[in-house]
Amino acid sequence: MQAEAAVATLVDPQTLMIGALILLGAPGAGKGTQSKFVSTRYGIPQISTGDLLRENVRKGTQIGIQAKSIMEKGQLVPDEMVEDMLARRIETGGDTDRGFILDGFPRTLAQAKWLDEYLKKWSVRHGQAWAAPVVISITVGYNQLLRRLTGRRSCPTCGRIYNIYFQPPRIADLCDNDGSKLITRRDDCEEVISERLKAYERQTLPLTEYYRAKGSLHEVNGDQATDEVTAAVMGILENGDRL
Ligand SMILES: [Zn+2]
Repeated sequence: MQAEAAVATLVDPQTLMIGALILLGAPGAGKGTQSKFVSTRYGIPQISTGDLLRENVRKGTQIGIQAKSIMEKGQLVPDEMVEDMLARRIETGGDTDRGFILDGFPRTLAQAKWLDEYLKKWSVRHGQAWAAPVVISITVGYNQLLRRLTGRRSCPTCGRIYNIYFQPPRIADLCDNDGSKLITRRDDCEEVISERLKAYERQTLPLTEYYRAKGSLHEVNGDQATDEVTAAVMGILENGDRL
């Protein structure tokens, strides 16, 4: 423990070059928690392509207007548009010099390949850390995910989320804040969750295989406690064993 603390003080996380970080993880794997931690500790932004798209639509940018009309027809926004938007965000945000976390991108092999080409161009300006993305996959066993997700209960009054296995309310089924009876949202039912997990698996497998073959995939055991997952993520980003 002492050795770890000593190492930690040698590195100022707010000056560290992180590069492009892709966090992969099924729903319930704790990706959001780790992403927030990384963003705060290293002072780099989380860039969500979903948020970007909504923001462009709201602001009525040229891309936003095009995207809106495509979505209104019920079609998927084409890759090139998402990629343009992403590139613009990275280049003009003013907060990406040391890196950024990608959320919701890449989803497909084609997007992953685009990203590789894009980062190669950036590595000329920003150094080796940008030549390839760092990919961290948080893996959690299927049954554990199911427990995490189906254990969710929410309060209809204040919106607080509980988990009957991991963060139960003080009195079973009742909200600690206001005593309302907790509910299971439709999204948290086993059938819906099992479908989501399978869809995630189908969508992500080609990506993990792609990154594994390139040697940029780091797998972290997400069955561990959150702190341990965080420590593993820090180890990958700070100990220089990532390339
Ligand atoms: Zn409540």
